[in-house]
Amino acid sequence: MAYSTDGFFNQYGGKYVAEVLRQALDELESAFFNSQQDEQFQNELAGLRKDYIGRETPLLFAEHATGLCGGGRIYIKQEGLANTGAHKINNAIGQVLLAKRMGKTRIIAETGAGQHGVATAAACAKLGMKCTVYMGEVDVRRQQPNVAAMELYGAEVRAVTNGSRTLKDAINEAMRDWAANFENTHYVIGSALGPAPFPDMVRTFQSVIGNEVKRQTAERGIEIAALCACCGGGSNAIGFFSPFIDEDSPRLVAVEAGGIGSGTGQNAVRMTGSAARDGIVHGYKSRFLLTEDGQVASTRSISAGLDYPGIGPQLAALGRTGRIEFTSATDQEALEAVQFFAKNEGVLFALESAHAGAAALKIAKQIPADKAVIINMSGRGDKDIFITSPVFRPAEWKTFLSAELERLDENTDIHNARCMKTEQGTKI
Ligand SMILES: *Cc1c(COP(=O)(O)O)cnc(C)c1O
Repeated sequence: MAYSTDGFFNQYGGKYVAEVLRQALDELESAFFNSQQDEQFQNELAGLRKDYIGRETPLLFAEHATGLCGGGRIYIKQEGLANTGAHKINNAIGQVLLAKRMGKTRIIAETGAGQHGVATAAACAKLGMKCTVYMGEVDVRRQQPNVAAMELYGAEVRAVTNGSRTLKDAINEAMRDWAANFENTHYVIGSALGPAPFPDMVRTFQSVIGNEVKRQTAERGIEIAALCACCGGGSNAIGFFSPFIDEDSPRLVAVEAGGIGSGTGQNAVRMTGSAARDGIVHGYKSRFLLTEDGQVASTRSISAGLDYPGIGPQLAALGRTGRIEFTSATDQEALEAVQFFAKNEGVLFALESAHAGAAALKIAKQIPADKAVIINMSGRGDKDIFITSPVFRPAEWKTFLSAELERLDENTDIHNARCMKTEQGTKI
């Protein structure tokens, strides 16, 4: 199941959209499949991956973690070392480059926690495209560091004030914009979901992760027993697993957000959770967390990137066939894994990736010493300092924040350090 058949992965996937968007999707589909045969496009993408993103990312042997676990060898694929701090840039650069090839002049995106918005804004800055990011008003308020980063990269962040003023409303607004403007505009979806061809396209751009791992393990003679990735929408997982899907081994393990418990609204477990159902939302058929009357249910996770009610259709299908095993890790387990890998490997995992880390520590114990479990560290944890500090060092963090507020009120240097806003393309 390397590619979909007519946009479907068994029972999941499809293109459930209004007629206007169908036209945009059909145009995108043929442009994407053409680009796969276009040597110039592939060369340009390879150059950006190398010099802009900083690929290939290293495959690190986690020696101390392996010793402390007592089982198989643990390796970490360091996607967090990619420019902008996570795997999302692999997809953003690919789609923005494709949009340019299609003659589009404007990029739009939706973002929840802001990570996809930041990656898209950065890719647009690099490739000289105008960028508008839709974000729920509630998220704009909660995620100021990422809003600041998007603006610094030259993007316009549009606060969405409809509905619950969060991610799903931002998606609706982005879809509306795309339907009205697709002649000059491309909509960059941030995970391996949405209507066809997005799941195929996002997986293809992210499969650079798995392709590198395949080469790196072959060169070093590493025998893989299991690959382990966290799973929000599923883009880092499917890209990491991609070259291994049609083989019988290794085990492919996707880790969902177990949150604070198994009750409805306490987690984001779409494959096995109590509120998990098949449904059609935002243009595709898959597994979603839905209420009894079919409304998208609320989710919960300490990691913003896994806190999403849907899952990519290919992951749902491969979960159903059993090729991908699904498990979950709780907030608590993720926080413990962040500390474990920081202290024992000197590597700071993003909270999302720490879910995969936590699951891999259990898997390592089940496999022999000459086999490996590889964790995809989808991102690095610098971005999580506002979430982890109040947990790890609550009193000190509070004192720090109050002191910072005072400093802002008092410090005349800050008020005097005004700077003209530099627009994209301005001579300096
Ligand atoms: C967004 C994000 C995720 C989740 O997205 P997927 O599409 O499931 O990969 C995981 N890790 C990090 C660091 C992220 O920013």
